[in-house]
Amino acid sequence: MYNLSRRNFVKLTGGLAAVGLTSPLLTGSARAAEGKKRVVIIGGGYGGAIASRYIRMADPNIVVTLIEKEKIYYSCPLSNPVIIKTRDLKVQRWTYENLVKNGVNVQYDEVVEIDPVKKSVTTAKGASFSYDKLVVSPGVDFKWEAIEGYSEKASEKIPHGWKAGTQTLLLQEQLSAMTDGDPYIIVAPPMPFRCPPGPYERAGLVAWYLKQHKPRSKVIILDAKDKFAKQGLFINGWKELGYNVEWVPGNEGGKVTRVDVEGMKVFTEMQEYKSSAINIIPAQKAGKIAHMAGLVDKTGWCPVNQKTYESTIHKDIYVIGDACIATAEIPKSGYAANSQGKIAAAAIVAAFKGQGEPDPSYVNTCYSLLSPDYGISVAAIWTFKDGQVTKVSGGVSPEKASAAFRKQEASYAESWYQSIMAEMFS
Ligand SMILES: Cc1cc2nc3c(=O)[nH]c(=O)nc-3n(C[C@H](O)[C@H](O)[C@H](O)COP(=O)(O)OP(=O)(O)OC[C@H]3O[C@@H](n4cnc5c(N)ncnc54)[C@H](O)[C@@H]3O)c2cc1C
Repeated sequence: MYNLSRRNFVKLTGGLAAVGLTSPLLTGSARAAEGKKRVVIIGGGYGGAIASRYIRMADPNIVVTLIEKEKIYYSCPLSNPVIIKTRDLKVQRWTYENLVKNGVNVQYDEVVEIDPVKKSVTTAKGASFSYDKLVVSPGVDFKWEAIEGYSEKASEKIPHGWKAGTQTLLLQEQLSAMTDGDPYIIVAPPMPFRCPPGPYERAGLVAWYLKQHKPRSKVIILDAKDKFAKQGLFINGWKELGYNVEWVPGNEGGKVTRVDVEGMKVFTEMQEYKSSAINIIPAQKAGKIAHMAGLVDKTGWCPVNQKTYESTIHKDIYVIGDACIATAEIPKSGYAANSQGKIAAAAIVAAFKGQGEPDPSYVNTCYSLLSPDYGISVAAIWTFKDGQVTKVSGGVSPEKASAAFRKQEASYAESWYQSIMAEMFS
């Protein structure tokens, strides 16, 4: 919630329009909120949106303010099928009205500063919000400098498609326009990064498209890594589906070091590749605000108490989702962010009640499509035992399975998406 003391309330006049506090009547509701616990959440994606909802559900007396810079949220999960036009971007589009109906105070603004001593955040529009507990879920930012010649501007011509929306549509246009016979080049990033199976899902779906629309073309994945998530399942599936996919691992010269954006060329230490269709997924780090607030360590990600997701750098700040360092190989996924949002919500509510840290349970399931009718998955559950996150169970889809089984997994991907999005935004 905005700073509630009357002095600061007056000081904030510049920010009042931004937070919709133009009527003197509302000073009454501000007063009503006085004395209540305040949680501010930065980022309304898979982590932040669910944390806001769960805190309100657990205790409607807590004043929850979600600050999100975009009015529309485009989901990355299931955005790869948009590139090959088997899915409309419209079904990836979500808004925050229902969170408002659920009592979350949603502010469309960008947080530009966190003061962990005064326990307040400041936004680009000049508003200030005090908190008792802060949740930070800003997702990822890119290390543009990791590939010489690549930049945010360059991503308009050679898109990354690693934040859904305009970037997804740019990849769609590029694929439609590519010359039959050119390779479709995907530059895959080093670990850790958002959605470890994502580049390989994209490779399979693009190969499916090429088979029908550009049969002389193939997919080349230039990888900074020597292995990748669900590797066996992907490679066998590509073979089974008759795809033309070439994967060049890092130890065989796959690491891209330079790009010539105008010339549409990428360079590894060994070779130059030219094409009318290139997708560079850059190396990643925690979202910008986490860096600005000093929440990151030398890895570029945010260290947290694994039981509560409270930052080990700044007290009363919880970092969830892609931005945090999660142990025990919990991936940077939407489902993991959702799980972390609930764990942080429970820890915050318990702390307000003076209770001990709740015992968390961590969940992840991630579906990947190799064609619209061919799905594979990975799932795991962890618990907190003997001071650390410990895997309880999990596994991946069977190596050998019928077409009907793969088709069923593809339909489960859609059900997963509908239910997790409904939990966040409906
Ligand atoms: C192609 C692709 C496919 C994927 N498929 C899957 C999948 O099938 N299953 C799965 O589980 N995961 C998948 N993921 C991963 C998933 O998208 C991320 O792990 C998830 O979005 C992380 O949630 P988050 O809350 O950390 O970040 P985000 O969802 O990115 O949310 C961060 C939000 O914070 C906002 N923000 C950032 N900084 C500020 C600021 N300073 N002030 C205000 N707002 C701010 C942003 O606008 C954004 O809305 C996929 C990712 C990609 C790229």
